Amino acid sequence: MFKALEQGEHEQVVYGYDRASGLKAIIALHNTALGPGFGGTRIMKYASDQDALTDVLRLSRAMTYKNSAAGIDFGGGKAVIVADARKEKNEDLLRAFGKMINTLNGRYITGVDIGTTEEDMVVISKETKCCVALPESYGGVGSTSAVTAYGVFHGIKAAADIVFGTASLKNKSIAIQGLGNVGFVLARYLIEEGATVIGADVNEDCINRAVKELSIDIVTPDQIYDQPVDIFSPCALGGVLNDQSIPRLKCKLIAGAANNQLDEDEKHYAMLHDKGIAYGVDYILNAGGVIANSHQFIGYIRERAYQEVYTNISKNIDKVFKIAERDQISTIEAAKNLAEHRLEMAVQRKKWFYK
Ligand code: NAD
Repeated sequence: MFKALEQGEHEQVVYGYDRASGLKAIIALHNTALGPGFGGTRIMKYASDQDALTDVLRLSRAMTYKNSAAGIDFGGGKAVIVADARKEKNEDLLRAFGKMINTLNGRYITGVDIGTTEEDMVVISKETKCCVALPESYGGVGSTSAVTAYGVFHGIKAAADIVFGTASLKNKSIAIQGLGNVGFVLARYLIEEGATVIGADVNEDCINRAVKELSIDIVTPDQIYDQPVDIFSPCALGGVLNDQSIPRLKCKLIAGAANNQLDEDEKHYAMLHDKGIAYGVDYILNAGGVIANSHQFIGYIRERAYQEVYTNISKNIDKVFKIAERDQISTIEAAKNLAEHRLEMAVQRKKWFYK
């Protein structure tokens, strides 16, 4: 286990068990240089305890980079509860987990992830203050998909400014893969801006809503890769940029909400680069939720949070592309360097003031 922590440079891993509720949870704190570890709780029935540990270590590390690059003063953390969210999630389990979070004295702040909802956060918050993503009626952001779409939209504009020489998306064509919570709202922003949107989804209801409310053109989930468009926006699943899909793409820019879009970072970035396709890094573009959630601690005001989402994501996309150009590195490397720079600044600042 310590080898895994050493490799990932994690600070702390906490195991929690509660006999009465059946809670089995792991909280991982990857890096708290900028502030408390901040990342959602995933409830999932893992095949083994080792799988649960591997997942929480991987996810908490990713949160360090996402939060740092997003410009918020939170570190990287994540939690997993080993349980079937549909059958085993109940008030006792969530409250036991809230008590476990409290033992960390503010070092970990939780939120929503796969298997948890805003309503679950209300239950957890009965035991701990270290909990965001509460519904708006409880002073939280509520669902983060709308603010995520808002951030992705402005990130696309910032990337378009670099790739096409204009931030205006008027008359630009965009293919959106996945018209779910984020993809649908993103499509609406794009259409309002004067862009042409083509969409695909595997869910009939999502397709019908997009056609009825936005009148967008629909292609099959497989055809979405072949569309001759300016921008391809993955808003469904991870790993969609791979050996099979990349040769089919006919766009100049990829910018979407989905996490881990590249199947293999280095290899598939290189394939995109060879085709002259720019890549807007996923966790820079989809940081709207974490930025908005961080506002819960200062009193969530929608306009203020949205303003910061717009400013930070536009600025960060601009920085990432410019660092990549200046240092002749990939935008993935540039985003990593941007995040690591903030972490290093935090460490040096502490040394300077507290030596
Ligand atoms: P969602 O489940 O509401 O929407 C995803 C949509 O993709 C669904 O409508 C689904 O039917 C569709 N889909 C699945 N497989 C598909 C395929 N092969 N082709 C086309 N469509 C397909 O999820 P969401 O909240 O809209 O999030 C979209 C993506 O953004 C996810 O990858 C998510 O991890 C990521 N993300 C979301 C948020 C957020 O706040 N919601 C934040 C950061 C990242």
